[in-house]
Amino acid sequence: MADERAARAALDSAILALAGDRRSTPCTAADRGLWTSRATEDREAAAWRCGPCPILAACAAVGDFEPFGVWGGVDRSPRIGRPPREVAA
Ligand code: SF4
Repeated sequence: MADERAARAALDSAILALAGDRRSTPCTAADRGLWTSRATEDREAAAWRCGPCPILAACAAVGDFEPFGVWGGVDRSPRIGRPPREVAA
């Protein structure tokens, strides 16, 4: 697993590069609340919308360190009946 600081720096660089090209990610659209919604079905919809994101891999690398929400097309949130996912130290 990648180093957290390196993963976050890589994501920051990817976001800045996108902004420089005047591009954006799906999670900056009007429905951005889906990515951190408490409703599982909303987060599933968000994960699906991540698909065409140009920085999906960099985002997913940071998601390995996040305990909640959709990162890189993956819902990192704990679910009822499933123990909380361990976040990398
Ligand atoms: S991959 Fe990350 S940056 Fe891209 S839309 Fe999904 S959550 Fe947003």
